[in-house]
Amino acid sequence: MTVERTLSILKPDATRRNLTGQINARFEAAGLRLVAQKRLWLSRAQAEAFYAVHAQRPFYNDLCSFMTSGPVVVQVLEGGNAVARNREIMGATNPANAADGTIRKDFAESIEANSVHGSDSAENAAAEIAFFFSGIEIVG
Ligand code: ADP
Ligand code: MG
Repeated sequence: MTVERTLSILKPDATRRNLTGQINARFEAAGLRLVAQKRLWLSRAQAEAFYAVHAQRPFYNDLCSFMTSGPVVVQVLEGGNAVARNREIMGATNPANAADGTIRKDFAESIEANSVHGSDSAENAAAEIAFFFSGIEIVG
């Protein structure tokens, strides 16, 4: 088992409903450690840059509007196979397809307001972590 780090974001629908602690408890119960965390209100430019990979998708504009509609909590999760493990805990993008017991099944409001972001590969995790955190802010 490889110890990895992945980027997680608690999205505005989650912070609005005061779910930060409940969602973090899911990560910790699954053996992932919160080794960095901060609460931010993203600017439009920051949201567009973070989701640049989706710039050609039809939902991109709405997604950037949603991600700037309230505070987010950005965090680094560390643990064995953290990238894939976090994706399992999160559940499918569309909560209608998410497995029982996943964060998105239990908390997401819609396919867009789906409570959490998680990196989808080790390579993207490294880039996404560097987008939000400097090395000194991550304490394993
Ligand atoms: P994931 O977050 O599961 O990795 P994607 O990377 O495909 O999913 O999409 C990024 C985010 O864009 C999703 O988490 C969701 O907030 C939003 N999104 C994805 N697909 C749609 C869609 N069909 N309609 C509206 N929003 C979407
Ligand atoms: Mg994704």
